[in-house]
Amino acid sequence: MKKYIIILSMVLYGTVDNTFGQHREIIVPDIPGYQTLKGDFHMHTVFSDGHVWPTFRVKEALRDDMDVIAITEHMDYEGFPDEIERDYNKSYEIAAAAAKDKGIMVIKGVEISPRVPPYHHNAIFLDDANSFPIDYMENTHKKFVMKDSISREALMAPFLEAQRQGAFVSYNHPSYSWWDRKDTVLFTDFHQELLEKGILGGVEVVNSGRYNIIAHRMAMKYNLTMLCNTDEHYDMYPRYADSHRPMTLVFVEEKTPEGVEEAMRAKRTALYFGDYVVARKSEAEALFKAAVQVDAARKDRNDEPIIVVTVKNTSDIPFRLQLKSRYDIESLPMGQLQLGAQEEKEVVLKAVWKTPQETTLAVTVENMLVTPDEALETQFRFSELE
Ligand SMILES: [Zn+2]
Ligand SMILES: [Zn+2]
Repeated sequence: MKKYIIILSMVLYGTVDNTFGQHREIIVPDIPGYQTLKGDFHMHTVFSDGHVWPTFRVKEALRDDMDVIAITEHMDYEGFPDEIERDYNKSYEIAAAAAKDKGIMVIKGVEISPRVPPYHHNAIFLDDANSFPIDYMENTHKKFVMKDSISREALMAPFLEAQRQGAFVSYNHPSYSWWDRKDTVLFTDFHQELLEKGILGGVEVVNSGRYNIIAHRMAMKYNLTMLCNTDEHYDMYPRYADSHRPMTLVFVEEKTPEGVEEAMRAKRTALYFGDYVVARKSEAEALFKAAVQVDAARKDRNDEPIIVVTVKNTSDIPFRLQLKSRYDIESLPMGQLQLGAQEEKEVVLKAVWKTPQETTLAVTVENMLVTPDEALETQFRFSELE
């Protein structure tokens, strides 16, 4: 009987583990001078309005090949006040203990979440999530009720606390919900004040896998760090089962929380969601060049002089390229080349009357956005042909 129970429990344990999903490696290269980390800096648990225990967030992050996560409970909402004592540091503490020695970093954070301007912001890399003042709230128990009249000071107070704790503050999901879609101006004078005080540092350009062009324009205009977060409240597996978990790639000098914070303040991030990457040009170009290698060789094909270019993607990020050359690009209408994850392809350049002399090939990476309106434009150099 005992043996039977052991076997049965092994079977059940195995089943549970398979349901949770297998670890899946996502290969993204480092860039010159920096290590590339995969991060998600916005998520919830039962300690605010999420529906999973903090250890679940660590387990799914390990499954999804993440290097760093931040737990960011709403500091002004308690989903289970009868069952869980108000303590917004607790979910971090539980997650950090579960992450110990597993090669994943957990960052302490909080979401400042008024339903009026300036709306939701994350403060991460902080000391104490419980000392954030919530004087603008009337009721936080299972519902979100703000006071009838709220002063600007009451709304500013948690941001000043974030500054006091040296936290990094970012504007979450601008124009996300009914309460902020009423406003046509999403970067308000409150945000301007946060910016001038040196409090506001970033903006969430991708939330829950959704690209936000308003947030992208904001990042450009106000020179803010761009973030891509899941803001997950449940089990995120079904949502991204066909793709990969959206992530903020952070280019760090060292793989420590301090290294992540330094990179974030220096705006060295790239957003990888679906088949898209959004980044500033310097990071986008470095990432693309690190991921895609090219080789070129002059050849005679039945006395026809050609250049054979081998393009190899060493990463798991697929690329949609448009190649441009003074010479004919054989068999690729408009020079369009799809380069899947880990895929290698050959491109033939040819001239009608003479040997092609080209030593560079211009390329537009159509799925890498460097502004809301422009894809990355760069070039391949064929050094051995020079
Ligand atoms: Zn929010
Ligand atoms: Zn949130």
